[in-house]
Amino acid sequence: MAIADEIRAPQALQARLRKLGLIRGDDLVVHLPLRYEDETHVTPIASAPAGEPVLVEASVLDVSVQFRPRRQLVVRVADASGELVLRFLNFYGSQTRQLEALRDQGPDQAQLSGRRLRLFGEIRPGFLGAEMVHPRYRVVAADEPLPQSLTPVYPTTAGVSQAALRKLILPALSSADLSELLDARWCQQQAMPTFAEAVHLLHAPLPGVPEAALQMHTHPAWRRIKFDEVLAQQLSLRRAYRARRLKGAPLLKGSGQLARRLLATLPFRLTGAQRRVHDEIAGELAQPYPMQRLLQGDVGSGKTIVAALAACQAIEAGYQAAFMAPTEILAEQHYLKLRSWLEPLGIEVVWLTGRQKKALRQAMQARVAGGAPGSAQLIVGTHALIQESVDFARLGLVIIDEQHRFGVAQRLELRKKGEKSENGEKNSMPPHQLMMSATPIPRTLAMSYYADLDVSVLDELPPGRRPIKTKLVSDSRRDEVIARVRGVVGSGRQAYWVCPLIEESEKLQLQTALDTHAALSEELDDLRIGLVHGRLKSDEKAATMAAFAAGEIDVLVATTVIEVGVDVPNACLMVIEHAERFGLSQLHQLRGRVGRGAHESVCVLLYQQPLSETARARLKIIFENDDGFEIARHDLHLRGPGEFVGSRQSGVPLLRYADLEVDTDLVELAREMAERLLRDAPDLAQRHLQRWLGSREELLKA
Ligand code: ADP
Ligand code: MG
Repeated sequence: MAIADEIRAPQALQARLRKLGLIRGDDLVVHLPLRYEDETHVTPIASAPAGEPVLVEASVLDVSVQFRPRRQLVVRVADASGELVLRFLNFYGSQTRQLEALRDQGPDQAQLSGRRLRLFGEIRPGFLGAEMVHPRYRVVAADEPLPQSLTPVYPTTAGVSQAALRKLILPALSSADLSELLDARWCQQQAMPTFAEAVHLLHAPLPGVPEAALQMHTHPAWRRIKFDEVLAQQLSLRRAYRARRLKGAPLLKGSGQLARRLLATLPFRLTGAQRRVHDEIAGELAQPYPMQRLLQGDVGSGKTIVAALAACQAIEAGYQAAFMAPTEILAEQHYLKLRSWLEPLGIEVVWLTGRQKKALRQAMQARVAGGAPGSAQLIVGTHALIQESVDFARLGLVIIDEQHRFGVAQRLELRKKGEKSENGEKNSMPPHQLMMSATPIPRTLAMSYYADLDVSVLDELPPGRRPIKTKLVSDSRRDEVIARVRGVVGSGRQAYWVCPLIEESEKLQLQTALDTHAALSEELDDLRIGLVHGRLKSDEKAATMAAFAAGEIDVLVATTVIEVGVDVPNACLMVIEHAERFGLSQLHQLRGRVGRGAHESVCVLLYQQPLSETARARLKIIFENDDGFEIARHDLHLRGPGEFVGSRQSGVPLLRYADLEVDTDLVELAREMAERLLRDAPDLAQRHLQRWLGSREELLKA
């Protein structure tokens, strides 16, 4: 299909432009400079400040190809103030010939004929005096005027030069539709220029535009562009949100009796936050559109019971609920806990994992598909739940624990499961979806990247928790840590010992786990030391976890398989070896495995010197903070939003210009504006999306 307004360029160039997301004239218009170079005045060689890029105009004195330390083109040039050496490590024969031709004119003739070099780059002191490495240069006539505006430097890719981009972008500015789509008065109130003014100014800033404001992205023109960009993201996500509300969903209405019966059997009362979130969820499940809600709550805030209550509502209404967890250990633990809660109420709970024996698996699948006696009402499992062969009889609610560990595709798969009815035909009733995460997403980020979801927050921990003490201990003091483990076990408690993470190799990781287990078994030969890692068979894993939970193992040596969800309240010491290799949210999750009972808990972060700067920063943050939201905020700051939201990305337009840490207010403004446009002026909303995301949406579809 031909794309309206497609960029005209030779095919090879077109293909490269496509890599930059540049397909239409509109894309060129919003392909904005990374930075600017000032070529509006010439600096004499002798007075160039060191380390700052300058424009120099000089004639050629000497051209030579040298071979030490490696083959390079060396050109000596001079202006009236002094001499300068240029070095080119990559160069063409044509380049050498062009420069030799200038040399042959001699400096005086160059003056007369007016053919000189204009160079742009940083001057640094070198072996032979002042030098520039790989300057950008051009042969110019003496009377050639200097540019009037700052020179934009665009984001680019191999094979697309700055000059080529400029040659395409400037005409696009005059041919593309730059008409204003926002309310002019509103823009004025916000001290924002019109869209046309903003893009003209940013592509070709006239003299007098404050350079710092341009470079730092604080100029009102940048503000306008960032707003437009965030607005496009909001429009796209909010439109998806509205569309979902037009779809039907299972009506999960009931008396709430089942949930009340469950609550009556619990040894604790819900916290205020749990009650509030439970109400939010219960209210939405009774609506005729599919819920898509993210439940955020710090490690240990009690998300599982909230999910169980939601499952009760679905089951009471005659539907099934599916509960998916990212690891087998966690899935099994959930299965055991949920079964202990729900089976006494007469609910059929089953579980499904990829590691089950075939016969058992098939029996379970038959119960999930319904019809058979003992049909499943709550199905707990790993991503085995989304496999082809699993068919749900009447799926009404999907719960995804630790959602950040799943890819978008996997979450979509599970949702699609519900859209099939018994006879395999598609019905258009997607199940309700509850996603849970203990990796709290800072508010602005949630408002931005998760604008198509509703978010509930558990902002209160159950009472009686004692804060966890965190200790940073150098690896050289390992003996003290061993003594601490002995002490903890001596007083009847248990400990975790987490093995070093080895990202590059699962095999090495397994080996370190075996080694650590062997070493600790020797050092603590009077204690019962268990080992759990990802390569164990699932029944071995389950048996070890059960023994640890029952207090039959004193120290559990583990890989990160215990990272999420594992809940053994008697464990009150967590040792993490090579803590410097772990990410912030991982450390926070691991630390959250202790502090679950009434005992004082300690987390020891063993680290090995020397620490890289980011590792040091991470350890400092985890040492100083125990609030998951606060840690997430730091994490966002360290890693940037792209990394932070990770696999959520696909389908969500990434922000190129707006900076969520700085431009918080723009996100709020854009959210309001998106709602207003979608309601009152859907055609303008559509045009805005087209302008900003048109090609990107095409690319996503491709
Ligand atoms: P997470 O939010 O990390 O998934 P869990 O649901 O595993 O937390 O809950 C952590 C522990 O707190 C569990 O042992 C759970 O039974 C317990 N718990 C949950 N809610 C409460 C409450 N309101 N009062 C006391 N304990 C609670
Ligand atoms: Mg949990």
